[in-house]
Amino acid sequence: MQQTQENTKKEQYNLNKLQKRLRRNVGEAIADYNMIEDGDRIMVCLSGGKDSYTMLEMLSSLQKSAPISFSLVAVNLDQKQPGFPAHILPQYLETLGVEYQIVNEDTYSIVKDKIPEGKTTCSLCSRLRRGILYRTASELGATKIALGHHRDDILQTLFLNMFYGGKMKGMPPKLMSDDGKHIVIRPLAYCREKDIERFAIAREYPIIPCNLCGSQPNLQRQVIADMLRDWDKRYPGRIETMFSAMQNVVPSHMADHALFDFKGIQHGSEVVDGGDLAFDRETVPTQPVGWQPEDDDEQQPMQRLDVLEIK
Ligand code: SF4
Repeated sequence: MQQTQENTKKEQYNLNKLQKRLRRNVGEAIADYNMIEDGDRIMVCLSGGKDSYTMLEMLSSLQKSAPISFSLVAVNLDQKQPGFPAHILPQYLETLGVEYQIVNEDTYSIVKDKIPEGKTTCSLCSRLRRGILYRTASELGATKIALGHHRDDILQTLFLNMFYGGKMKGMPPKLMSDDGKHIVIRPLAYCREKDIERFAIAREYPIIPCNLCGSQPNLQRQVIADMLRDWDKRYPGRIETMFSAMQNVVPSHMADHALFDFKGIQHGSEVVDGGDLAFDRETVPTQPVGWQPEDDDEQQPMQRLDVLEIK
């Protein structure tokens, strides 16, 4: 009995720590990229997955203590996929007391109609979804659109682009939408997926499975996600250091002549970013720079949220 009580206390303590860390990560990302300003109306895109639930909770929590005033409106797009449990999000959002809108658009039929059987449907589906969400943001008078991508999504995108696209291109924490009308923000940009996963399990969010459309997951992204997860286990700190590297780009030491004026280097030019180390023995740290493990990292194995039941 006493043992059970102690375990419960410990779990509560760990959950509080996790919550604080996520909140801190979100607060730092918002500040670093000036994601939210006084008077903003943020449209929070809610898919029913662990990331978007966590994002909504973190933004709601920060809203209460922030020195600026901003409002939130949660938006879910019901794409009419077979078996989509339409009651779950309204029920959840009513309980929270958050302003929300459910947008009903049958993109599922359009995609099924246009894409031949067996071909991947995601690109058309996401293009349609993006258009609908932009339109909704305008209708709601939203000044920012918040998406629930986290640090691991950003790194996966970087590797996808490097491995298959021949580009050093990730997923920006803040950007102008392609139509030039909307500012898109990713408040979870500094959050680790494993933290979000543990938090979502502890919070018992009513997760809606993401495979209702019957589409196969993107295999290339899956391979990269597995690779990163494996590195995280075998070389603790590597993921953190790689993400820091994305924030510390040295254009003069890459090879993009459109980004840095290599042609302009002449006799008499000044030294940029430490010159050339090729002749020296470079000092490479043996441990990831500036990284410390979190003390609750070891306790909880990663659980997979996609096997949770809908409540
Ligand atoms: S997995 Fe399904 S719902 Fe998601 S983008 Fe692809 S087609 Fe659309």
